[in-house]
Amino acid sequence: MQKITIIGGGAAGLACAIMLARAGEEVTILERGDRLGRKLAASGNGQGNVTNVNMDASHYFSDDLRRVGAALSRFGCAETVHFLSSMGGIFLPDARGRVYPAGRQASAIVDLFRHELARLGVKTILGARVRDISFADGATLTFDTGTMSADKVILCAGGKAAEHFGTDGTAYALAQKFGHTVTPLRPALVKLKSDPALIKGLKGIRVDGALSVLRGGKCIRTVRGDILFTENGVSGDAVFRASSYAEKGDILELDFLPSVSEEALLSALEVGREEPLLCIVPNGLGRLLMRRTSDMGALSHLVKHFMLPVYGDCGFREAQVTKGGIPFSETTEHMESKLRSGLFFAGEILNVDGECGGYNLQWAFTSAFLASEGVRQC
Ligand SMILES: Cc1cc2nc3c(=O)[nH]c(=O)nc-3n(C[C@H](O)[C@H](O)[C@H](O)COP(=O)(O)OP(=O)(O)OC[C@H]3O[C@@H](n4cnc5c(N)ncnc54)[C@H](O)[C@@H]3O)c2cc1C
Repeated sequence: MQKITIIGGGAAGLACAIMLARAGEEVTILERGDRLGRKLAASGNGQGNVTNVNMDASHYFSDDLRRVGAALSRFGCAETVHFLSSMGGIFLPDARGRVYPAGRQASAIVDLFRHELARLGVKTILGARVRDISFADGATLTFDTGTMSADKVILCAGGKAAEHFGTDGTAYALAQKFGHTVTPLRPALVKLKSDPALIKGLKGIRVDGALSVLRGGKCIRTVRGDILFTENGVSGDAVFRASSYAEKGDILELDFLPSVSEEALLSALEVGREEPLLCIVPNGLGRLLMRRTSDMGALSHLVKHFMLPVYGDCGFREAQVTKGGIPFSETTEHMESKLRSGLFFAGEILNVDGECGGYNLQWAFTSAFLASEGVRQC
């Protein structure tokens, strides 16, 4: 039996702990917060979108996408559903392939983990922010309230997004000490800022539309889904997905009616001449569009090509994930550090991030599987 210490009690750390404890290892989780799985409990608008049936590397960003694909083919959507169901619960996809617990409660997933950790006798120490790791005949970890030794360490301390869940980006230093680098970090799956004057009065209006990111006049990505107007920009799952691509200076082209052609739209507008946009777009949006033009041709064009400049994003605090991190290529196929044997990684701390739709929790579980296997094999 090996003594394994896991730094971080988020999705990746919890999954590593259960996989290793089930294999008979002695596992301790050191978590800096006062609860386990805080971010997991808030995921998917509190409903817990744990994975997606449409699972392959094309939904990810990393310095080594080939390895991400290989990892997903070993532990993908089916394996995640099997793993979670092995603790209890039923996990089902929605019409877009996003998998949730049937009870639609993310905090209940954390409860499943907590019960299984207790059943397996995994030790958890809360309020234990790890400040240093050193290696000499095994590892010594120094944390806020003490020190402990371990045969191997898995660093699952997350990234820099949503620091109120304990992830302020300071944990990268634990690996940098051994020579690891950190790629440039950027918030992703985040609201985008635009010109408030262009969307005045639209706050709270939600449209199921299409959104294209234009750079230098060229479309670099089109996504479909919810677009939600905020006071100073746009949010919603289409925007979160587009935020992985969009940069300050780009243009967002919104199509409020992607399944209807401009010609068909024009015919409909001409039927309802007095208030032509009734039952076509939400009334508040219709009023704003009508203030721009009363020409039916220009109006039908505007419904399908509504341009908004990107002024930036809403920052790490509001982001769901971190783009960038410790290069995946600085780890072996077993998720072990190439620079310090005995140190393993899993989760968002690595330079792997996914689109909106369950891909980031999937990465937490996939990397946890590989790291747990690696810890036992190396
Ligand atoms: C609001 C929100 C909603 C989201 N919804 C979804 C969704 O529906 N589907 C999806 O796929 N993804 C979603 N994500 C992203 C997903 O939750 C994360 O990618 C995932 O939780 C990352 O798992 P992790 O274990 O690597 O890191 P985290 O879950 O961030 O866990 C890291 C843990 O490490 C602890 N820690 C940090 N430093 C130290 C230290 N020095 N010592 C000890 N402990 C430390 C932190 O307190 C934290 O508990 C969402 C994110 C947010 C913020």
